[in-house]
Amino acid sequence: MPSPSPSPTSAFPSPATHRSALSATAPNSPPSGPPPSFAATPGTTPPFPATPGTTPPFPATPGTTSSVFASGGPDGSGPSNGWVVLTFDDGPSSFRPRTLEVLRRETVPAVFFDVGMRVAANPQFAAFQAREGHQVLNHTFTHPRLATLTPEAIRREIIDTDEALRAAGVRMPFRGMRPPFLAVDDAGRDVLAGLGYRTIVGVDVFAADPDAATTPEQIRDSLLAGLAPGAILLLHDGNVDTPSGRAAVTALPEIIRGVREHGYGFGLLDEHGAVVPAGPLQPCAEPIPPIVNPVPYLPLVEQFRGDPPQDPPPPYVIVESPHS
Ligand SMILES: [Zn+2]
Repeated sequence: MPSPSPSPTSAFPSPATHRSALSATAPNSPPSGPPPSFAATPGTTPPFPATPGTTPPFPATPGTTSSVFASGGPDGSGPSNGWVVLTFDDGPSSFRPRTLEVLRRETVPAVFFDVGMRVAANPQFAAFQAREGHQVLNHTFTHPRLATLTPEAIRREIIDTDEALRAAGVRMPFRGMRPPFLAVDDAGRDVLAGLGYRTIVGVDVFAADPDAATTPEQIRDSLLAGLAPGAILLLHDGNVDTPSGRAAVTALPEIIRGVREHGYGFGLLDEHGAVVPAGPLQPCAEPIPPIVNPVPYLPLVEQFRGDPPQDPPPPYVIVESPHS
């Protein structure tokens, strides 16, 4: 396999542009050729609004420690550099309980773009995540490339996920989705809009974490290198077609610490897909649920199985895509 890029974010627009990347290039594809074009829809990811009073008094210096955390400074002014949001795609997998543990301990709210077939397999997570203070949004049912599907097949992917979430007892905060591989074309957008999904959430910063060979340090460094006000950060705590996930959850505490040390707070998404301030997570009183049933995976992508090849953590089951 090609080596992961040491700087996976470099092929994408600077987060300082406040535009989230949505393109035909998968985030786990090493960059090649010219940078991909970006199809951020005007209005879906508006620039992070400058809030009077939150202007940083000094530029954050990497490596220095700020005492201003998400809960605000001593004068209640909020984090010195603004807000970012932590998003997790493809779950819930066997790594999800660990993710939830860390977020609870660090009182960080996050956004979960869950895959419908995995929600249906382990429905105990979706509603718990919402009660815990996280947002749960739609990442399709079987994680296909939308551009390869008929409009009816796209509709089924979205509606089946809606139904899985509803059956699991969760209401989405708004009709928001992230397309698999961050790829959706105009025809796909029309289908989504017809279902009320006008908010298509992109990504500003990601690591090569779908690749099981990527280390926690690489994941941490990639995310921290891309920090900017309003940035949407992406992690996979159990990618749908690779055995990865352990490194991402291992890196999570240090990512959280680093984000805060750089003067950012952890926000959530509004109905336009923009990052908005959020208070510290106020966890519910329930225990974090365990994985009960086998986690569905698509056939594993060989080049991302690691060296030596790894398997996902049990219990899991490989399922064929209904579209292949
Ligand atoms: Zn995904």
